[in-house]
Amino acid sequence: MRFPALLISLLLLSVAEATAQSPIRYAISFANRAHHEAVITVSFTNLDDRPLQLRMSRSSPGRYALHEFAKNVYNFRATGEGGRTVTVSRPNPHQWDVAGHGGAVSVTYTLYGDHADGTYSGIDRTHAHLNMPATFMWARGTEQRPIELAVHVPDGSGWRVATQLAATDDPLRFEATDLQYFLDSPTEVSDFWLRTWQFEGQSFRVALHHEGSETDAEQYATATAAIVEAAEHVFGELPTFDHGEYTFLACYLPWVDGDGMEHRNSTVLTSTSSLESNMNGVLGTVAHEFFHAWNVERIRPRTLQPFDFERANMSGELWFAEGFTSYYDDVFLWRASLIDDETFAGRMGGIANNVSNARGRQFFSPVEMSRQAPFVDAATAVDPNNRNNTFLSYYTWGSGIALALDLTLRADGATDGRSVTLDDVMREMWRTHGVTEIPYEVPDVEAALARVTDNPGFAR
Ligand SMILES: [Zn+2]
Ligand SMILES: [Zn+2]
Repeated sequence: MRFPALLISLLLLSVAEATAQSPIRYAISFANRAHHEAVITVSFTNLDDRPLQLRMSRSSPGRYALHEFAKNVYNFRATGEGGRTVTVSRPNPHQWDVAGHGGAVSVTYTLYGDHADGTYSGIDRTHAHLNMPATFMWARGTEQRPIELAVHVPDGSGWRVATQLAATDDPLRFEATDLQYFLDSPTEVSDFWLRTWQFEGQSFRVALHHEGSETDAEQYATATAAIVEAAEHVFGELPTFDHGEYTFLACYLPWVDGDGMEHRNSTVLTSTSSLESNMNGVLGTVAHEFFHAWNVERIRPRTLQPFDFERANMSGELWFAEGFTSYYDDVFLWRASLIDDETFAGRMGGIANNVSNARGRQFFSPVEMSRQAPFVDAATAVDPNNRNNTFLSYYTWGSGIALALDLTLRADGATDGRSVTLDDVMREMWRTHGVTEIPYEVPDVEAALARVTDNPGFAR
């Protein structure tokens, strides 16, 4: 009895494994890009008999409001195994249930996208700037399967692809190990300017889509490399980037929407201003987003891991994840000599002013302000609110806390007389929660501060 039972379970295991391994194949094309449309196809194989529950995401990593990406999907068609007719039902606004598929489903739909930033997609004659949750439908129960993406660029467009997705032998085909990674991998398809360099044994790429000069592009890439070095200096090492590579995806064009969005091995940077008119402004965003490669992507709040694409993700740690990162934006620009002492001091004074004068502090703590993010981070609503009186951004408050903490640490040092700074606290968080990728909670920050200062009383 034992042996056949083992055989059967091995057989079942290998069937389950084959199902888990069957890749999901996506393709995207842009024949009607002038009207902001992309056509997407997705195919699933090795499905069980249950209806396939296809979803458009409602949220996107690093952005905390709900966005209802299903609203820009139309021309939905689905077929089953061998092209058979299937039954499609709509249990809610985000979902298409496909029944009677016989084990395979192919889906085609049109996506409208005219908002190129860190949350949405923007498709036009000049580029396809794709945020993945805004673009690609996925299916419940297939989240662990590997993903393949084929990008069909328009003939004669000169478009190429920049993304943190794994490259293949074909420059227009990419892979992801699973859905979480795929949806975290924004993709720029355009005729961009590219600069690559090596630092500490890893590759960096700037894919820059703009209308400025070669000189501006060179200056931008050089400054970005200086920011990379300043950030590495805080933590003492770079994160180990997946595939050994980090990509800056920048679109600085009048028809995009300004933003900066962190991802695991890349960042999206958009601005309506040019490099010539606002070099230091856009570099501040570069510094902010690159710091996130440590703080939030790997030093990860437990509340955001794994990211839930079906609902708003609430985190009480954004005062640390966003606020401390904001403080370091200015610190890096100053340390990389991109802003002078006076500008830096002015910015620090601004933070101190904003925090001390904000009435909102009477209503919520920094943790509670962080939990407001789903209502304030690119959220839209038609009814008025009283946020001018009751809210202080967790970015501002968090950078104020970082500034005050850094100054206090520098003034007082540790209990044994060692000099310490906020860099030591960040390095301790990196050692205990970043390298290990063990998500943290607020008491873990307190514990790191206690170890750095050797003063648990101060840390509380
Ligand atoms: Zn672009
Ligand atoms: Zn941020």
